[in-house]
Amino acid sequence: MPESPESSPSSSSLPSPDLARARVALQRCADTSPKAIHAAVRAAFTALPNIDALLRPGRRVFLKVNLVSNATREEAICTDPEVVRAAVIEVRARGATPVIGDNPAIASEASVLRASGIGAIAAELGVETPDMGPTATLKCARAERFDAFEVSKAILDADVLLNLPKLKTHTLTYMSMAVKNLFGLIPGIRKARWHVRAPHADLMAILLNDLYGGVADHFAARGGGLLHLCDGVNALEGDGPGHGGRPRFLGAILASTDAMALDRVGCEVAGLDPECLVTLPRAWRRPLGKGERANTDRVEIVGATIADFAGVRLVPPTGGGFKLDGIAMWLGNQRWLRDLMIEHPRLTADQACIGCRRCAEICPADAIRFSSAALPVPVFDKRPCIRCYCCAEVCPKGAIEKSPLPWLGRLFT
Ligand code: SF4
Ligand code: SF4
Repeated sequence: MPESPESSPSSSSLPSPDLARARVALQRCADTSPKAIHAAVRAAFTALPNIDALLRPGRRVFLKVNLVSNATREEAICTDPEVVRAAVIEVRARGATPVIGDNPAIASEASVLRASGIGAIAAELGVETPDMGPTATLKCARAERFDAFEVSKAILDADVLLNLPKLKTHTLTYMSMAVKNLFGLIPGIRKARWHVRAPHADLMAILLNDLYGGVADHFAARGGGLLHLCDGVNALEGDGPGHGGRPRFLGAILASTDAMALDRVGCEVAGLDPECLVTLPRAWRRPLGKGERANTDRVEIVGATIADFAGVRLVPPTGGGFKLDGIAMWLGNQRWLRDLMIEHPRLTADQACIGCRRCAEICPADAIRFSSAALPVPVFDKRPCIRCYCCAEVCPKGAIEKSPLPWLGRLFT
């Protein structure tokens, strides 16, 4: 399929790999105060070329925050409300009109907005939070496999999508930043159905990259754009992206019009291996964006440097990234060998489960049963389980973890 030509940064069309470099604005944030966060966001925005044209008067800018599940600011699961506040102010300063929203997996958007503190910011600043319910079809003309998605119409109707991911580790994809956050365009529990169509990490990488390509092309066709502002102030490490992870101060703000480039730099800032982030190696083969590790001169980092974050290494998810390729990847994707090759979900030893059954509600493979009415804790059936970790993502108690890597998987890694 033909690649779009490199366009001005006011267009979001996916850049050709042969032309100009992608710019990633990287800023250090000394602490979590609103003042420090706003200074870092302002500096990151200012470092991006043509940002004023992108956010010009008359444009409606959808701030796609990360509202995974009910969690406070301190838990570092949702986008930091102070990053959202700074983004709203910067968008308005250039004349555009911001609106805020996301599609949590199970909880209502209103409850997650309230718990995260983002709802209070929206109310204080008078920002609209549109109805996310109505959907429209997003076509992905350059898809490798998944060429259409039903997504929230409120997002597609905007002129500019300002993607506001939280920098987190992730049990399925290794890390969650700009590309992964776009999965939230798909409403609520419908996300779980996509896990059935992409039942292992490699297929999920293709799905996420196809979605990213479709989103970028959609906003380019509207004459608007796609911009990413990643909240790495309080990051999440360990078995994210939900309550299984642990907050860790990183003090990073990243911005770019190229999600792949931003995600690669985000991995390096976090001291983690970009090759383990499943979307990146898949994108390098197509290619999509300029996150290539082997060709770092295609990514220009302005502001702070990776060296400024030296000594930081977030704890990766259990298993440390399933970087199997070739025959090992093929083996890991065979249902009959899966239990010997890759990890599976299990309850944590601390008996934190409260029997709320949210894990079973979201499980797309019907792989969770409850032990008894008297003692309602989940029992995982490994055979139908597709290892999507949606259950861990929505568990409010962090009571679900990955098992250790089985012996055959260890042999290959
Ligand atoms: S494991 Fe978590 S989501 Fe599942 S029932 Fe227990 S507390 Fe609820
Ligand atoms: S048990 Fe958990 S990891 Fe397995 S399919 Fe269900 S939600 Fe996904």
